[in-house]
Amino acid sequence: MTTDLTRSTAAALADLLTQGSISAREVAQAHLDRTAEVDTAVHSYLHVDTEGALSTADDVDRRRAAGESLHALAGVPIAVKDVIATRGLPTTCGSRILRGWVPPYDATLVTRLRTAGMPILGKTNMDEFAMGSSTEHSAYGPSHNPWDLDRIPGGSGGGSSSAVASFQAPLAIGTDTGGSIRQPAAVTGTVGTKPTYGGVSRYGLVALASSLDQAGPCTRTVLDAALLHEVIGGHDPMDSTSIDAPVPPLVEAARRADVSGLRIGIVRELTGEGFQAGVRTRFEQAVQHLVDAGAEVVEVSCPSFTYALAAYYLILPSEASSNLAKFDAMRYGLRVAPSGISDPSAEQVMAATRDAGFGDEVKRRIILGTYALSSGYYDAYYGSAQKVRRLIADDFTRAFEAADVLVSPTAPTTAFRFGDKLDDPMAMYLNDIATIPANLAGIPGISVPSGLADEDGLPAGFQILAPAMHDDRLYAVGAALEARLTAAWGGAMLDRAPALAGTGAAVGPTRTKEA
Ligand code: GLN
Repeated sequence: MTTDLTRSTAAALADLLTQGSISAREVAQAHLDRTAEVDTAVHSYLHVDTEGALSTADDVDRRRAAGESLHALAGVPIAVKDVIATRGLPTTCGSRILRGWVPPYDATLVTRLRTAGMPILGKTNMDEFAMGSSTEHSAYGPSHNPWDLDRIPGGSGGGSSSAVASFQAPLAIGTDTGGSIRQPAAVTGTVGTKPTYGGVSRYGLVALASSLDQAGPCTRTVLDAALLHEVIGGHDPMDSTSIDAPVPPLVEAARRADVSGLRIGIVRELTGEGFQAGVRTRFEQAVQHLVDAGAEVVEVSCPSFTYALAAYYLILPSEASSNLAKFDAMRYGLRVAPSGISDPSAEQVMAATRDAGFGDEVKRRIILGTYALSSGYYDAYYGSAQKVRRLIADDFTRAFEAADVLVSPTAPTTAFRFGDKLDDPMAMYLNDIATIPANLAGIPGISVPSGLADEDGLPAGFQILAPAMHDDRLYAVGAALEARLTAAWGGAMLDRAPALAGTGAAVGPTRTKEA
């Protein structure tokens, strides 16, 4: 029974809970047991909140027994990325500098989860301050990909993706500044949505790059992502960039899964060279499935995407260097006394703390950003990058005249091995080549599993992009594709190659080649 509950989708758990055939406590306990069994190997969590999760679950059970009408997802547990503020629960952002920081407040999206009665299982691992594509930049050690523990689970949100893929949580929250929800979803065979910028409140999300950051769902099915997106989405007066308009009907779109007559645009610049052969094959097959479901295919060109990575790696470090200035050893977390100085100044304490508290990748980006923003260089770097950003948004506007959604592979390759790209920042940055344009333009995107690549039997992702505030299209197309692929495979991808089947010792799935 316990194992079965962890294999259920959030939608199925919600039904069982509503019918009263299972209790919220049983569901929470099953997932906590699963974590106790496998997380020494996977390392999805930085903190597990056993007591908090069970107490929320008990509260839901009590209220249900008293006949209160509850939210549809009441009692469905969730894991939250450690970059989101949670009152009373540590929030480290994967950094030494925030070790031991316990926020005195909840992020708006956490308040919404709590109001819905969703038990928070714990906080998930991530690259430090969400900088990275592998979780190797976490100060607390990497998370592992449940498909192959020697490989990365994607990043920065590899804790959330691996938690969902290894059945430790039916749902998780991630954040996506350049791909950190979508790329981890792609390489773990799960689903991840980056909502429209301003669609989910950023209040309480520790900022990496404020003009790019968006929180969103990490799940195993498209419907589950839509259900979670509806819980966390919608206007919040606490976030000045939050869009004051209703969220489109996402769950309805996922349930209808209707793509008949929909124009699917293949982005020429995101499908060619540099993409692993097996990833491309699965992409082409997925497009064919959508055609079979009634969609039309057009090819579109977005020439400015060639400069997206360069623009992103000026804009992101610029904003990050400014956002991270607040970690000054006075207000939060770590404080280090400089060695050999008896009466250190505030500046000396600050320097020693930032030196000890930040990892190499964070320092690299602070230096880059500070340089790009320095007077005399501002126009040449930050200013030019902003102009490229405009060109990219214009490319999207033009492309969306010809197509209702745009598609591409989510990431250029399947999961790589630990260490493969760690010493080569450019190689690491190239993981985001297909995901970054959406962040620069503020539009929504989703990654849905497209199958296993032939070369290595590892999951590949299919990315769907829609115009701003048309997040419903992601779910319509994603659900249509998922339905076709599930039928073709005879089951969900993760079930066909069950991650971490059996006990914690017998790790690693049986990978099967695809016809
Ligand atoms: N991998 C990208 C980066 O390192 C994206 C990060 C993110 O989306 N948080 O910046």
